[in-house]
Amino acid sequence: MTWSIKLGRILGIDIKVHLTFLLILGWGASIYGGEAGPLYGLLVTVALFVLVLLHELGHSVAAQWFGIKVKDIILLPIGGVARLERMPEKPWQELIVAVAGPAVNVLLFLLLLPVAVAVAILQHTMLPGTLSVESITQPGALGLIMFLLSANVMLVLFNMLPVFPLDGGRVFRATLGFFMDYERATFIAVLIGRMVAVALGLLGLVTYDFFLVLMALFVYTVGGQEGQSVALRGILRKIPVERILARDRVALTPNATVEEVASQIRQSGQPNFAILDPNSHQLLGVTTSDDVAAAMANGQWYRRVAEIMRHTHQIPKIAFHATLDEAQEKLGQASSRVGAVYEGWQFRGLIDLADISRAFRLLASPKAREIVG
Ligand SMILES: [Zn+2]
Repeated sequence: MTWSIKLGRILGIDIKVHLTFLLILGWGASIYGGEAGPLYGLLVTVALFVLVLLHELGHSVAAQWFGIKVKDIILLPIGGVARLERMPEKPWQELIVAVAGPAVNVLLFLLLLPVAVAVAILQHTMLPGTLSVESITQPGALGLIMFLLSANVMLVLFNMLPVFPLDGGRVFRATLGFFMDYERATFIAVLIGRMVAVALGLLGLVTYDFFLVLMALFVYTVGGQEGQSVALRGILRKIPVERILARDRVALTPNATVEEVASQIRQSGQPNFAILDPNSHQLLGVTTSDDVAAAMANGQWYRRVAEIMRHTHQIPKIAFHATLDEAQEKLGQASSRVGAVYEGWQFRGLIDLADISRAFRLLASPKAREIVG
C-alpha cells in the first residue's frame, strides 16, 4: 500500500503505518492528554495501537499456521489490517483465523487484570483513601492500565459484530460455509454486512460520529470488493484452461526476425507468440507485442526473436487441466501477463490475462452462468 511507512518486521511480516495514522497520533495526544498533557495522550494512543497490532498478529500467526503468507500489517486510523496473500477458504480455517485476533485481546485482558488489581492495592497502601472512581480514570499507571483493559473489551466487542469483513462477519461467513458453498456464504455475509454498514453510517451522520461514518464506509466498500472477487473466482473455478485455449495462434521459430514478428502482429493482432523448437516443437520462449515494440523502437528490427524472447524459465507453467482461477493465481504470483500451458511435458499453447478476463466477461452474464453452473 502506498502512503505507508515501514516500522519494522515481526515474525517475517512487515509492520507499516499509513501516513494518515500520524493525524490520529496528534488527535489522540489532545483527546487523551487532558490535564496530564499531550505526552501522556500520545502514550495512551500508542498503547492503544500496540493492542491493535497484537490483535492483527493474532490473525497473522493463525494464517501462517495454515500455510498462508502474510504480506504485511498496516495500521490505519480506523484500526489495523493484516493483508493475507489469500483468504482461507475452508470454513474451519477461516473461523480460527478470524477468532485468533479477538482471542489475543481476551488474553491481554486476562493478563492485565491481576496487574490492575496489584497496582490498585499498591496505590491504596501507599496513599490510603486515594482509591476512588476518579483515581482509576485519572492519568497515571492505574489509569493507563484501566484504559487498556477497557480498550481490549471494546476491541473484542466491536470486531465480533457479525458484519463482514469484520472478524465477526468472517465467523458468520465461515459458519454459513459449513452449510452451503463458499460463494453463497460470502454473498449472504456481504449483503447483511452492507445493510448494517448503511444503518451504522446513517447513525454516525445523525450523531456526528465521524469515526462511525468512516467505519461504515470501510465495511461497505471493502466487504463489497471482497464479495466481488469471491464471485469472480467462483466463476473462474468452474472453467478449465483447456476450454479457452486459443488453437489458431501463430507460433514462431527462433530465427524469425523482429521485423517479421511486427508484421505478423499487424496482420493478426496476436498479443504474444510462442517460440518453438522447429524439431521437437517444444517451447523455447515467449515474446510479446510489447517486447517487439521495444525492440523496434531501439532500431533492432533485424535481430532474431530468440535474442529478445523471455526464456521458458521466466514464464509460469500452467497445467492444461487447471482451472482459470488457478491460472490467474499463478500469473499473479509470477507477476506475468502470460503463462505457458502444458499437458504433461507437451506444450499446448499460451494463456494470457486478457484471455481470462474475456472468458470471464462472456461467462459472467446470467445466462452463461446457468450453462456453466
Ligand atoms: Zn481482527
